[in-house]
Amino acid sequence: MEHNDKNLGFSTRAIHHAYNASENHGALVPPICLTSTFTFPSAEYGAACFAGEESGHFYTRISNPTLALLEARMASLEGGEAAIAFGSGMGAITATLWTLLRPGDEIIVDQTLYGCTFAFLHHGIAEFGVKVRHVDLANISALRDAITPATRVIYFESPANPSMSLVDIKAVAGVTHDYENITVVADNTYCTPYLQRPIELGADVVVHSATKYLSGHGDITAGIAVTSKEIAERIRLVGLKDLTGAVMSPQDAFLLMRGMKTLSLRMDRHCSNAQVVAEMLEMHPEVECVSYPGLASFPQFELASHQMKLPGGMIAFELKGGINAGRRFMNALSLFSRAVSLGDAESLAQHPASMTHSTYTPEERAQHGISEGLIRLSVGLEDIDDLLADLSQALESVS
Ligand SMILES: *Cc1c(COP(=O)(O)O)cnc(C)c1O
Repeated sequence: MEHNDKNLGFSTRAIHHAYNASENHGALVPPICLTSTFTFPSAEYGAACFAGEESGHFYTRISNPTLALLEARMASLEGGEAAIAFGSGMGAITATLWTLLRPGDEIIVDQTLYGCTFAFLHHGIAEFGVKVRHVDLANISALRDAITPATRVIYFESPANPSMSLVDIKAVAGVTHDYENITVVADNTYCTPYLQRPIELGADVVVHSATKYLSGHGDITAGIAVTSKEIAERIRLVGLKDLTGAVMSPQDAFLLMRGMKTLSLRMDRHCSNAQVVAEMLEMHPEVECVSYPGLASFPQFELASHQMKLPGGMIAFELKGGINAGRRFMNALSLFSRAVSLGDAESLAQHPASMTHSTYTPEERAQHGISEGLIRLSVGLEDIDDLLADLSQALESVS
């Protein structure tokens, strides 16, 4: 039996959705379809595939059965109609934006963005004649003022990387109801659909770095876009097929689906560990402030508690001692790894000013709220007592 039932729970769909063992020699685990091309039974059938009259697979850059299973499963989990798999999160983001924007168009983006997304906008798409406007999307009237007849896309992350600020997705999507032709794109990497589903809140497209929590094991790079059938078809046939070629390999789709089977279990543990770490950091004398959506002191605590199922596994905090304290803290860690990326079983720590946001100039960093001493933690799945002990000894070395 094929498990497509929308009424099945999230974890059940993450394990079963859209797979039919009886069509695959009874294999419990979906096989990997390792082929770049597909044979046509006749010239006429091949022509019909190219004309879009037949839905069969014909070349893996456009579609492949293993990728199609992953895409159906991700669409179900995000509550969208269709999904497209990419070789990286940046593949998903760039293919989506190249598809939706033309010279003369405008894109409104939040103040703080993942470093490579920022670089793509300012050093990529802006140079091809698209105007990029940064607006604080927490301010809905500022968003209304920034919209012009040329606005085609509103783009944001929630929580944002690395500031942890949230966007009220329902409020932002609500503004666009007064306009035709504005597509709302949300980067849902930090939350995954287990914690937050932007499409259900009114967004049109969700993009992911599936390299992070979705895969969960730090062994692939991968990206996903989830949206309507109509937009997905355009992103696939323009952004993926012709403009970027950023296709995911079927082996990586297999690893991603393996990771997704435990998504809800992992996210529950990431969140419970992060809550304890955030509370410990907040009490520590060397720590100036902690940004974590699960703390009552978090400025958007109310929004977090109704927009997100749980507060997530990411924490940003500021050391009182600034950049030097930051360096000493980073170098003293022994269980937390000094590494970019996030969402792995292993706990990771990084220093945005010198790592992920080094593509910003110092002025741009200041302007976008990234202080020089900010530390970002991706709290992993280890035993909480071991994580607390490592952080305590590293904080001790700062004083
Ligand atoms: C990592 C990341 C990306 C980029 O994804 P890659 O898989 O590294 O290409 C985009 N957005 C956010 C929020 C990320 O954390």
